[in-house]
Amino acid sequence: MIRVVADKKKCVAAGLCVGREPAIFDQGADDGLVLVLRDDVTAEELEGVVESASICPSGAITVIED
Ligand code: SF4
Repeated sequence: MIRVVADKKKCVAAGLCVGREPAIFDQGADDGLVLVLRDDVTAEELEGVVESASICPSGAITVIED
């Protein structure tokens, strides 16, 4: 199973993850910090989630395979 976690303490509210994979990521309405809508990543979403992790400027997103 592939899961994704995002660290709000590292997030700088750049929003790139939301633009790349809006089915998984959102931003808080008041602080703009990352929200993970669903942490189990489907095969179709994997590429977008991995790319989100690589373009996140603060390294807040981690993809976990277990
Ligand atoms: S791309 Fe990174 S810094 Fe930007 S909102 Fe997403 S987790 Fe936060």
